[in-house]
This record gives sequence, C-alpha cells and structure tokens, in this order.
Amino acid sequence: VIELGMPTRSVVTTCAYCGVGCSFKAELRGDELVRMVPYKDGGANEGHSCVKGRFAFGYASHPDRVMEPMVRDAITDPWRKVSWEEAIGFTARRLREIQAAHGQGSIGAITSSRTTNEEVYVVQKMVRAVFGNNNVDTCARVCHSPTGYGLKQTFGESAGTQDFSSVDDADVILVIGANPTDAHPVFGSRMKKRLRQGAKLIVVDPRRTDLVRSPHIEAAHHLALAPGTNVAVVNAFSHVIVTEGLVDQAFVDERCEDFEQWATFIAGPEHSPEAVAEVTGVPAAEIRAAARLYATGGNGAIYYGLGVTEHSQGSTTVMGMANLAMATGNIGRSGVGVNPLRGQNNVQGSCDMGSFPHELPGYRHVSDDDVRDIYEKLWGTPLLDEPGLRIPNMFDSAIDGSFRALFVQGEDIAQSDPNTAHVFAALGAMELVVVQDLFENETAKWAHVLLPGTSFLEKDGTFTNAERRINRVRPVMAPKTGKHEWQIICEISQAMGYPMHYESSAQIMDEIAITTPTFAGVSFAHLDKVGSVQWPCNLEAPNGTPIMHASEFTRGKGRFMETVYVPTTERSTRKYPLILTTGRILSQYNVGAQTRRTANVAWHQEDVLELHPHDAEVRGIEDGSTVALTSRVGRTTLRAKLSERMPVGVCYTTFHHPVTGANVITTDNSDWATNCPEYKVTAVQVDLLVEP
Ligand code: SF4
Repeated sequence: VIELGMPTRSVVTTCAYCGVGCSFKAELRGDELVRMVPYKDGGANEGHSCVKGRFAFGYASHPDRVMEPMVRDAITDPWRKVSWEEAIGFTARRLREIQAAHGQGSIGAITSSRTTNEEVYVVQKMVRAVFGNNNVDTCARVCHSPTGYGLKQTFGESAGTQDFSSVDDADVILVIGANPTDAHPVFGSRMKKRLRQGAKLIVVDPRRTDLVRSPHIEAAHHLALAPGTNVAVVNAFSHVIVTEGLVDQAFVDERCEDFEQWATFIAGPEHSPEAVAEVTGVPAAEIRAAARLYATGGNGAIYYGLGVTEHSQGSTTVMGMANLAMATGNIGRSGVGVNPLRGQNNVQGSCDMGSFPHELPGYRHVSDDDVRDIYEKLWGTPLLDEPGLRIPNMFDSAIDGSFRALFVQGEDIAQSDPNTAHVFAALGAMELVVVQDLFENETAKWAHVLLPGTSFLEKDGTFTNAERRINRVRPVMAPKTGKHEWQIICEISQAMGYPMHYESSAQIMDEIAITTPTFAGVSFAHLDKVGSVQWPCNLEAPNGTPIMHASEFTRGKGRFMETVYVPTTERSTRKYPLILTTGRILSQYNVGAQTRRTANVAWHQEDVLELHPHDAEVRGIEDGSTVALTSRVGRTTLRAKLSERMPVGVCYTTFHHPVTGANVITTDNSDWATNCPEYKVTAVQVDLLVEP
C-alpha cells in the first residue's frame, strides 16, 4: 500500500546551485518530485545541505518554463512557437549565412556553468569544429577567470589545491573576499565547526561579514581594507614573512623557483605594513600581527571568493596568495593550500571543459600543436591555433560590427554582466542571438531563437565542484522539452554540415576521458561505482586527487611571481564619493532565475543598499528610505538598509533581482589578465528619493 504523499522512488543526484556540489536523494512519487534529502554518502556534503539545495527546486516545474522552441526574425516581432526541426534548421541556416557574409570569426558562443560537463564540452566542440574558430567563452569570465590564470602561473594548474575536508586540519584560516555563510553554506558550516574547535581566523574584507563574529567564533583579525586594495594587503603579509625570517626555507629551496628575485621585490619598503596602511586603511600593527599568525600558527589555509577575483587586479591577488602559501610551506598536505570558493555548481567544470577561447579541454593552449593534433584526428577537422574572443571582446566587436551572432547557453548575460547599457548595445547590434535557457530571461528579450533548456532534474551528466570533485547528475525524469541540451547542440552541428552524434552523455564523457589527461580515468560506470572522484583521475591517480601538488607542483617547481600593486582607476570623487561593492545572500542565487521562481523558499529578500549610518545621516537617509544609486555609467533605485557592517565610505548591494539591476551601475573596468569585471569597486553617489 502506498501512503498518499509518500515517495515511491529516489535518485541520487547533485545540487544545481553553488560550487559546494552537495549530493541529494531526489525522492519522487511517480514523476513528481516530493523532496530533496541530503545524501549522507555525498563526498562534498556528507549529509548536510542548505536552504537552496533542499527547498528551492520548484523552479523546475514553474509555469514560466519555456517548453517549446521559438523563433522570430526581429526582436520587435512576437515569438513564433515552432517545431524542434524548424528551430534547429533556422539557427543553423542563419549562422551559416552570417558566416558567409561576415567571415568565419563573426559568430561565437558562451557556455554555462549551470549545465553539465558534457553539455559544455559539446558547445565548445561545436564552436571549434563547426564554427571553425575559438570564439567560445564561459560565464567564469565574470567570476573566477583570475583563479584559472593566477594558479596556472604559480602552481601550474587552474584549480584549488585541497578537498573540503582539509579544513578540518587547518590551524589558521585566512578568508579573503569570501562570505561562505551566505554563498557556500555547507562548506561555511564546516569551516565554522573547525573555528569553534579552536582554529584561528583572519578575515580580509571591507564588510564585517557574519564570519567575523558569530556564536563562539571571533576573528583574531578583521582587516577591513578599502575596496580594491587586496594586492597591497597580501603583499604586506609576504613582506612581513620575508623581512622577519618567517619563510619556510627548506620548502622553498626544494619545491619552488624564482624565490630570491621575488624576496628582493617583496622586501621593498613600499610593501611594508606601514606603507600599505595608508593605502588600505588597515593599521600596520594589525597587518603585521595577522601575517605573523598565518606564518607561524601551524597549518595555514587560504580560502577566497569573488572579493578577490572581481577586481582590476584579481589575477595579481591570486598570484600573491600563491606566493604566501609557497613562502610558508603551506601547500601539499591536509589543512593548508589556496582554495577558491567557486560560485556556481559547475564553474570548475565549464573551465575544465575548454570553454576559454585560448584553451582546449584540460587547460591546454590552442597553439599547442600536439594537443590540437589529438582533437583534429578525433574530430576530423583542422582547428584554429589562435585564441578567439572573450565575452567583453565579443560585445565590443558586436558594437563595431564585426561580431554578428551569438549562441548563449544558460546564462543571462543581459542581467549578470557589467555595464548593462553596453551589453544591451552589443546584443542589439547582432543579427542573431540564440538563447538556450529554462526561462525567457533578460537576454532572451534580445534573442531571435529561444531553445528550451532542461533543469537539473532532467539532466544526465556530471558537475565538477570547487574541490575538483566530479559528481553524477542523474535524471529523475525525462527532458520535459523532449530533448537533452547536448542533443540540441549535436543537431545544430549536423544541420550546419558537421556530423556530431552521441548515443548518450556517457559517451561524451568517454570522449572527454580519451582527450583530456586529467579525466583519463573518469567514466559514468566508475562514478557510479565510487560515488565521485576528484581530478586528476588517471593511471597515476586512479582514485583521484583530493590534495594537489603533494610532492611536486603540476608545473614542476612552484613559481614565485612579482605582484606589483596598481591602484584601480575607479576612485571616489566629489561627484561619486562612495564605493559600492556587491555580494549575495543565502536565500537567493545569482540573478535569481531559479530562487525567485521557487515558492517554497522560506524567505525572499529584495536587493537593498547597505550603508553606514554616518553616510546615511549626512544624506538624510533613514533605514527603509528609497534611494537613487548613481555611478558614472548608470542609475538605479533601491531601499536603504543602515548597517554598521559597512565601513564609512563603502556601501553594498546584491544583484538577485532584474528590477533593481545592480549591474546598471557597475563599470566595464576589468582584470588586466583575464577581463574579469571589476564588480567589487564602483564609485557611486547615493541620494534620498523617498522617506520610509
Ligand atoms: Fe546546494 Fe551549495 Fe547549498 Fe550545497 S551548499 S545545498 S551545493 S546551494
């Protein structure tokens, strides 16, 4: 007898929100999802979960979902529902027509960190083998691209060094520009557990996050630096370590290179805590004490987030943190390392799968003849050896007229990319925009083709989390739209004249394993047997690699890099006297496409502007006032929230709602190495509009 309302079957799968990658048992009654139960054998979460993964799945059956393909000739026309055959034929024909008229490089694609590794892999394959260019980029461009660059330069691998359980052995935890309580809740809880056991905490963040002081946790040091000065603080840490004789010389001598040159650079007086205090606003004594604690307190572990990467010097800070870890020997064992807290469920995977315009899967440069040869033989077509366009270059080229068509997989670039007016201008200038998504999102308003996507409940594939753990995403139901996303890509490729066919997503993973050395030991059968595995997983490491660089770095020797601090050009002025920085809240996720469509999330907070009571008082602003927020690129309105979490002169908001549109305000300044936008530093003015 089946009790009414009780589940009748369950499927183990992976959360589709953040980069922690929690495993769940999806419990169903027939085809109806009844509940998500955290899976106790999940490698990343061990039975824990947060409110999003557990409760925010209603979006998958929301009436807003696009269920049928739609096309239109102009964005002012109404959508026309069409068959899959017509939508795929229309897309393929227009892409080929545009290439014929404007050249091979006039089209490109953006992959998504919300889709599976297999879905990303086929999109980059379509760009390289079918479009015949390297114009493929990923939404990681706007979040962790500096991680990929910085860790590759120093350690030789574009990924975090540790598994999550490593934090259990940390003695000193240095958190820079991250708020794991809200953004990575399950890992945040694990970190807090370790802190309650006595590990020391250093927080580097302009905002007094929950971590700085919470029940039974008090940071030993909170360095509330001026936004945009991370490099100066990290360099000052290294200065103290070098000039006070705190270097782990045995580790450096055996494992690293370019140390002497770097040590001379970092010992310079401009990097001293006293010099840096003037720039950052952090007292010299506080910097000195924090640096000594990190260097001498036992196992030192660095965790960081977008507060590091989304700056004009994001890549420099990543390299600076790698320098710190190498100088103190905090690499290669449990409890240490340099750990990016990745934002999206598959941001690590989308990068691993060759979504960058300069790298084939496995972070191998497109100019490498031997690597290209592997793909050329397998794919049966020559590949271009020059990098393609990054997302910002695509936008600029669209406005210039040379980039004419874009395929966007599961990313709402109109809402999530900086300087909205510029993004709108680029989208409006293109002849063809194809959006593959669950919903008619803000980007789809500029699209000519809307291809319905599948939710995580319908997907069959893998996600790779922030600790390089490859987790299975198992379908709990057939695609509601009639097609898997990888099938759609294959059919567009076929219609463009390139045969691309797979029997299943497992077969796509088999191709990834053949072509990508770090994935050589990965298959769906293996994952089903062992649960999950952390890459590299291959003959040398058949059980995967929880901790990297244990005996030597991926590049051989770890490389010290000179990290010159260059102040951002975005400064407060008389006209724009405050600095705006951005972040997230626990109950919402990124642009809110999923969480805002989930009725059973217990609370929905609007985007508000947090500012210090002093900054509010001088403007006549009270808690709850409606204010205008203006930068040199745009203006929006928000409700004010007075908060002593903010230092005087700095304000803060989230970007979960299209109405308030925080990215109307953010500029197109970007990281010097990767073009990751400088979301975290925008000079603004705040004016009272309506009293509460
Ligand atoms: Fe999902 Fe992240 Fe929450 Fe885990 S911590 S349940 S992966 S949102």
